[in-house]
Amino acid sequence: PDTKLPKVGTTIFTVMSQLAIEHGAVNLGQGFPDFDVPARLVDALARAMREGRNQYSPMTGVPALRQAIAEKTERCYGWRPDAESEITVTSGASEAIFDAVHAVVRPGDEVIVLDPCYDCYEPAIELAGGVAVHVPLDPRTFAPDWDAVRRAITPRTRMLMTNTPHNPSGAMLDESDVRALIDLLEGTDIYLLSDEVYEHIVFDGRRHESALRYAELRERAFVVSSFGKTYHCTGWKVGYCIAPPALSAEFRKVHQYNTFCTFTPAQFAFAEMIEAEPEHYEQLGAFYETKRDRFREQLLTTKLQPLPVPGGYFQLVDYSAVSDLDDAAFCRWLTTEKGVVAIPLSPFYGTPPVGQRLARLCFAKNEATLDAAIERLRML
Ligand code: PMP
Ligand code: GLN
Repeated sequence: PDTKLPKVGTTIFTVMSQLAIEHGAVNLGQGFPDFDVPARLVDALARAMREGRNQYSPMTGVPALRQAIAEKTERCYGWRPDAESEITVTSGASEAIFDAVHAVVRPGDEVIVLDPCYDCYEPAIELAGGVAVHVPLDPRTFAPDWDAVRRAITPRTRMLMTNTPHNPSGAMLDESDVRALIDLLEGTDIYLLSDEVYEHIVFDGRRHESALRYAELRERAFVVSSFGKTYHCTGWKVGYCIAPPALSAEFRKVHQYNTFCTFTPAQFAFAEMIEAEPEHYEQLGAFYETKRDRFREQLLTTKLQPLPVPGGYFQLVDYSAVSDLDDAAFCRWLTTEKGVVAIPLSPFYGTPPVGQRLARLCFAKNEATLDAAIERLRML
């Protein structure tokens, strides 16, 4: 057929999870926790359903949840969005990204993405008729080259997408990056889409540089987040977008005809959870830092070389001491022959770098799962 998305097949996460099942492999591929959702959240969800919170919510989201997001944003980033006009609850960050792109990108517009980047960005841009302009991050540190970004800007540039903490690398923007970004965007009418789904998973005392901390950025930004990452429930698909009133109004025009609203009982549950247990998101970094440290220590007993992980729940490993296969072939081999699923990096690129020998492992797992994986990885 005359496909609208010629470059797109089935996502690498689906392919590798399927392969994991077929081969009984330990799945450190697709990013999802294998431990429980906080008990209070499950109780609150069940209660919401029993209490009849089962019909359409307001299009913009349950008011109590938007209030809770406004308060949490102020606590975390020192600025309070208006719950009425600036916060929209969505069916995951994926929907928020799709809606934001479709709200502002017209046919022929260019959107700058920093490679490697999460796989849903480019298809959203293409479906809007836009063109993704790929600017590579540093191949080892995954830091942006802001001069290269500046050179990529044209009169057609409508939007720039950033992601911190970053999937797949775990790299984080620091304050100097934000200053460079502010300089770069000043005087332009380029929108910023800031993907901050791992906002609470940051390590070693680092500060998450949310675009919401900076007036110069938030005036032009769609900031998206996801409760899936923060509350260990990637399958619930609830997220949100914070944007200035005029941008939120455009965003909502897409949202209301895309999904209209999001799973109502979960919205009540998150509203309760955010308010009653702020320590959950406050301690999430420490929770994952323990996992990261233990996993990295174990990896040092294998031939895989772990790269630094400032944030997020993915560990990149350099496998060049094990194999000279390209990353897709290596991850397939690791799954089918060695029983551990990893995700190759090449699907995160417009043009994958030649000779890169990196794979992504998800450490949002119970110790038993990680131990089982390490036992197999020691055999490499
Ligand atoms: N952005 C990034 C960087 C992600 O890693 C993910 C989840 N894998 C998403 C967006 C999508 O989040 P959600 O599952 O809430 O749609
Ligand atoms: N965000 C998840 C990851 O990076 C995958 C989500 C999905 O499978 N769509 O692993």
